[in-house]
Amino acid sequence: MELRLYDTLSREKRTFVPLDPKNVRMYVCGPTVYDFAHIGNARPVIVFDVLFRLLRHLYGEAHVKYVRNITDVDDKINDRAARDFPGLPLNEAIRKVTEQTGEQFHADVDALGCLRPSVEPRATEHIGEMREIIERLVKGGFAYVAEDHVLFSPQAMNAANSTLPRYGALSKRSLDEMIAGARVDVAPYKRDATDFVLWKPSKPGEPSWPSPAGIKAEGRPGWHVECSAMAWKHLGEHFDIHGGGIDLVFPHHENEVAQTCCAFHRERMASYWMHNGFLQVESEKMSKSLGNFITIHELLADWPGEVLRLNMLKTHYRSPIDWTMKSLEESAKTLDDWYRVAADVAPGEPAASVVEPLIDDLNTPLAIAAMHGLRGGDVGALAGSLRLLGFLSESAAQWEGRKQQASGVDPKEVEGLIAERTAARSRKDFKESDRIRDLLAAMGVAIKDSKDGTTWEFSR
Ligand code: AMP
Ligand code: ZN
Repeated sequence: MELRLYDTLSREKRTFVPLDPKNVRMYVCGPTVYDFAHIGNARPVIVFDVLFRLLRHLYGEAHVKYVRNITDVDDKINDRAARDFPGLPLNEAIRKVTEQTGEQFHADVDALGCLRPSVEPRATEHIGEMREIIERLVKGGFAYVAEDHVLFSPQAMNAANSTLPRYGALSKRSLDEMIAGARVDVAPYKRDATDFVLWKPSKPGEPSWPSPAGIKAEGRPGWHVECSAMAWKHLGEHFDIHGGGIDLVFPHHENEVAQTCCAFHRERMASYWMHNGFLQVESEKMSKSLGNFITIHELLADWPGEVLRLNMLKTHYRSPIDWTMKSLEESAKTLDDWYRVAADVAPGEPAASVVEPLIDDLNTPLAIAAMHGLRGGDVGALAGSLRLLGFLSESAAQWEGRKQQASGVDPKEVEGLIAERTAARSRKDFKESDRIRDLLAAMGVAIKDSKDGTTWEFSR
């Protein structure tokens, strides 16, 4: 079976050929830890978790290395720390913010059924690698020092007569267009409007490290060089897959490619660039000002994590996704049904009808449709397929029990009401039986009558 992935750089689906099938390597840009992650942030985490699981299925668990970083040096973190812990020295306050937010992020993504990556490097633990890359770039003539900053020059990169990629190739932008479209208020220390920061001086009290390239004042790294450094340290100069949300293509990933390829004289940084589409809520862009900004944490108070996961995977990862209450309710029903029929059966091999769409550029909607098809037939294969996609982490009883707890309804009371209703029906008191059915519905309990009696479930 052949895995095919859509590559943003070549703009086509290509057969996946790992550099080393015994060591398949993937890097995904992780969160900047200053606040609760929102449901849009959950999308790359879930999508690349599915890819991680699929790669492990295809190449063996021991042969896949997945690196997702934690950005713990950033202006937003500093602002948050100063605001939340005004009495503490800034560095201590920053540590508190990044620790708390990092723990919350882990709790959230664990609940979404995501495996932890093989390595979760923190930016602040890789300053040495960042300095090394910056030194190489300055020596190679791709970067320069100005007013205690180090700046990368895309012009220098594109002028180099070599096998380097062209700056702008990933995002399909020409440097001339970028120059023409540059803002007028370009920082005075930049030679060209398109130059970007590799290193900058720290303000008093901010985190700071000894600077590279002979700069006396201490400073801190720019965001883009962090990922080049962490990917290099854990995956090498050239690895298989680099992922993230579509908003990261420019400038973040374009700059990562530039830094890594120029520092190591490489034609490529990653063999495949993968990007997930954006998520909007009830057909609107999610934003704090519109009041439709939802965190994973808030959603988890109302829905099991696997419902959020299924809801995310019903849309293909490259398409935009409209996150709606209606779709969540449907996902919850589907998962309730799958738990009932498949959670307690011995899982078989994942069905070919499920794996085939998955290896075709992660076509999860088709895989989910195939699982609906298995429901009335091979439930062992359904169970195996669901597990491959990261579902069924609980038994059917645990799943039901959690729902009952969440609803606050006592199952004994429900059974009692159903018995009363059955009695009312047998004496043909339909007014009373309807009253009880409505009462149960108001409690969030749906009932179903069949020749074998009445069954019930929480409808949420
Ligand atoms: P950030 O913390 O903004 O750097 O985002 C972390 C990750 O979430 C990146 O891979 C982003 O591309 C992704 N992301 C942010 N917002 C959304 C969204 N609304 N839909 C999908 N992905 C998003
Ligand atoms: Zn990154």
